[in-house]
Amino acid sequence: MKLLKDKVMAEGIVLGDQVLKVDSFLNHQMDPNLMKEIGREFVQRFEGQKITKILTIESSGIAPAIMTALELNVPMIFARKNKSLTLKNDIFVEKVYSFTKRETNEITVSKKFMHSNDNVLIIDDFLANGEAAFGLARIVQQSGANVVGIGIVIEKSFQPGAKLLQEAGFKLESLVKIASLENNTVTFVEE
Ligand code: 5GP
Repeated sequence: MKLLKDKVMAEGIVLGDQVLKVDSFLNHQMDPNLMKEIGREFVQRFEGQKITKILTIESSGIAPAIMTALELNVPMIFARKNKSLTLKNDIFVEKVYSFTKRETNEITVSKKFMHSNDNVLIIDDFLANGEAAFGLARIVQQSGANVVGIGIVIEKSFQPGAKLLQEAGFKLESLVKIASLENNTVTFVEE
């Protein structure tokens, strides 16, 4: 997606060899027009899949997920990282190790919002080791619903998540793919 690549080149900040900071348009300040285009792009890439729900994880997945949901006219659910005061048997719970915070969170989704007849598209901002995406997929599987696919805004292809998700049989669509962040430079995967 050229618009997104251009934005990453213009505003992305490389932190070490592993982390890309994009807090001017995705992770802190958000660019609504870019989010709208991202929503449209995901809808095109998963066309014909009869999606009934979008699932993401708070907080940075919410913007691309809500724009995709708006485009499809379906609800969007975000998994919570902090337990609310709900009874354990009302929620699906999975453990997810956070790449950026280096801690394990329990993520939760209310059983009210996901059912066995749902076709769920998972959306997230970044893909690194795949922990968040696998955790979300396990939540969908707990509910008995179907994972239609996984849509990622920025995939870091030099980390193992993409390969692991594909090997597990998930349809993965990443809007930009980064081959390397070495030498303070963003290098995209050639397509
Ligand atoms: P994974 O679960 O695939 O290991 O990592 C993905 C999650 O970690 C995403 O939800 C995202 O919030 C965060 N993350 C991973 N890598 C980066 C990165 O390079 N930059 C930013 N801003 N977030 C990242």
